[in-house]
Amino acid sequence: SSFTRLGVDPLLDAHLSNKMDITKPTSIQRATLTAMLSSSGADKDIFIQSQTGSGKTLSFLIPIIQDLLPLSSLSYIDRSIGTLAIIIAPTRELAKQISDVLEALLKLRLRPKDESSSDASSTRLTRWLVSGLLTGGATRAHEKARLRKGLPIIVSTPGRLLDHLQNSSSFSVGKCRWLVLDEADRLMELGFEETITGILNGLNGRRNLAIQATKEGVGRDVGGWDWERRRRTVL
Ligand code: AMP
Repeated sequence: SSFTRLGVDPLLDAHLSNKMDITKPTSIQRATLTAMLSSSGADKDIFIQSQTGSGKTLSFLIPIIQDLLPLSSLSYIDRSIGTLAIIIAPTRELAKQISDVLEALLKLRLRPKDESSSDASSTRLTRWLVSGLLTGGATRAHEKARLRKGLPIIVSTPGRLLDHLQNSSSFSVGKCRWLVLDEADRLMELGFEETITGILNGLNGRRNLAIQATKEGVGRDVGGWDWERRRRTVL
């Protein structure tokens, strides 16, 4: 389909259409997939402006899953590898919505390695990619325990995330490849600029950053980050 033409794995494409009824990319999905999956864009940061309802959630979740999909060829994933992707949303409600969409994507069933194996039930992507919603809804100790076990993908609100970065010794972000700031303009309106700066400073590995903002002009200097120097995709 048109997703595979944009570089999306046929397995992921089939899951989107068969299980989630998503058959044709929206314009923002086409633009982000093109920018994020192209080899020239692989290390670049992206800033996007797009309305709610445009399909922006999948516009960043699909490239992330596509990028992490090769992990599923490993016979097992060492969860001590740490966190590979972090998505930050301004409110618990939005974080929960993103997490729900992510969970639906992670139900993707992988081709069984061995057709005769009785182990086919354990070939869902969730075996490798576990997601965690860290929004302060649970106690800090409970969230810390989940981090200790390893959470490859995290959806979080800014305050709680910074708290864990600063206080959870088992929270390893050295291999983190993706940071998404969803609704960056609202993050700023709600006064999270300093927190975001703290988070950006705590993530010093190679990474791609995608910013989704809903209003004109907001987010260009989010967290003191020099977006003008970086790739910007404006929709
Ligand atoms: P969002 O802008 O991420 O809040 O998405 C708005 C709605 O559009 C959600 O209900 C999605 O399930 C739906 N949606 C996202 N992408 C697509 C697509 N490519 N085709 C049809 N519906 C979509």
